[in-house]
Amino acid sequence: MAQTLSGIGVSPGVATGPVAQMAAPPVVPTDATPSGDPEAENQAALAAMQAVAATLEERASRAPEEAAGVLAAQAMMAQDPTLASKVTAGVQAGKAAVTAVAEAFEEFRAMLAAAGPYMAERVADLDDLRNRTVATLLGVPMPGVPDPGHPFVLVAVDLAPADTATLDAKRVRGIVTEEGGPTSHTAILAKSLGIPAVVACRGATAVAEGDTVLVDGTEGSVIVSPEEATVREALDAHEAKLASLQAVSGPGRTADGHPVQLLVNIAGDRDLAAATAADAEGVGLFRTEFLFLDRPDAPTSEEQQAVYQRVFEAFSGRKVVVRTLDAGADKPLQFVTVPDEPNPALGVRGLRTSRRHPRLLEEQLAAVAGAAAASTAQVWVMAPMVSTPAEAAAFAEQVHGHGLGTAGVMVEVPAAAVRARHVAAACDFLSIGTNDLSQYTYAADRMAGELADLLDAWQPALLELVRLTAEAGGALGKPVGVCGEAASDPLLALVFVGLGVTSLSMAPVSVPAVRAAVAAHTLAECRGLAGLALEAEDGRAARSAVRAATRS
Ligand code: PEP
Ligand code: MG
Repeated sequence: MAQTLSGIGVSPGVATGPVAQMAAPPVVPTDATPSGDPEAENQAALAAMQAVAATLEERASRAPEEAAGVLAAQAMMAQDPTLASKVTAGVQAGKAAVTAVAEAFEEFRAMLAAAGPYMAERVADLDDLRNRTVATLLGVPMPGVPDPGHPFVLVAVDLAPADTATLDAKRVRGIVTEEGGPTSHTAILAKSLGIPAVVACRGATAVAEGDTVLVDGTEGSVIVSPEEATVREALDAHEAKLASLQAVSGPGRTADGHPVQLLVNIAGDRDLAAATAADAEGVGLFRTEFLFLDRPDAPTSEEQQAVYQRVFEAFSGRKVVVRTLDAGADKPLQFVTVPDEPNPALGVRGLRTSRRHPRLLEEQLAAVAGAAAASTAQVWVMAPMVSTPAEAAAFAEQVHGHGLGTAGVMVEVPAAAVRARHVAAACDFLSIGTNDLSQYTYAADRMAGELADLLDAWQPALLELVRLTAEAGGALGKPVGVCGEAASDPLLALVFVGLGVTSLSMAPVSVPAVRAAVAAHTLAECRGLAGLALEAEDGRAARSAVRAATRS
């Protein structure tokens, strides 16, 4: 019997396949009884560590460059002789293999943590290794992204950036998470890979391994054990819709010819193929921190320059907006994030990181400038999490000092939106990050699925801040884009255009529907829709009013 689960559709499209659950870390039993044969216990423990190392080496051999390094280093750690001798000492002292392993890892962990900042940064990798070894010994599912050997629908509580480093987009047909919201990493990652996804889907983790599901990432529904006819119908309807959207092409224009630049969001090499194929006018948000994730230290200026160069070459002649490092809070980096910040989302993150690590920003700007000088792309640079006109002015001066002509800032903090005139006057352009702007406007953690109603970018308070920002840019003749996930909602895109936004940047998969929506309405109609949304009581009412008006 088919059963339907509901969540929030965050990456459009329809997909079907067997479920593979992402397992939680295994629990080490406190009452494991040793077999009484220390040699057998030792063999079992060392064999589990070898098996884990072999799997990691195999995964390293097919992972992209940066992820391969992390996996290979982890595999070496699993074969560390000191670790092995601690395990052996444990079983010889009469402990069960699983207990000896857990204790040896704990001891090794304390040693690493005490051995200076570089080694301390490997602790997370070591914990992952322990979990894998314990899972192998207990015969329970391996934690982390599963690899069942065939295409599947990934079901998880939520995904963190580190979980996704080795996610094989060819195998993952759909993603469903129990938690997460419309601006969570799961949402951003799924969209960037073009994988249909539903988040905040209650009951998803209770679906049995291997059960077939039909995921509708536009509607936000997941049908468990669907009838074959239902699957066929959904896939056919999706194909037909795609074909009709593809019929509209070229630069973004309203029905009366008002230009609205349509750009794509990328996070590095992995996204380039889809991004360049998207018939977009350039890149509106290049999230560079993904170059810095899962590393013990920052990539060198040369390493960075090589990546920037590849991106600029892929978009030669077109605009590429590079966002400088946005570390902290939901994007922790081993070497810069303060580990014990009581409130990381309100802490040293985004541009604020450069207060503590000024060289990091300097080196990044030098790398961007070097790559830009060797390319014909129109390179713009912007800073995340800017709060004041003074920060905007200092950043713009620094960027211009590197010979980069166009420096802007993201409007993600309500203070920047409220004072948008002054912020816009201090730099060359603004780009509204609706993911963080809704988080800070509603004081609602963007990763919290249960607060999704507050994080809804249709909320009139958020739209007021977008209006203020767009008007400020308009008054000074400076571009104002939206690059948060909200820009990929075709109806909301119309509202943004009506509010005066000059560009929309989104995952490549979202461009056709937004282009078609914009092309079907005049600027005056968009202004009318924006007025309806601003007058609404709440996000739900705003969406309904605009939906009704576009249907009439
Ligand atoms: C945003 O906050 O809207 C944004 C685009 O930045 P990120 O999602 O990377 O924080
Ligand atoms: Mg942000």
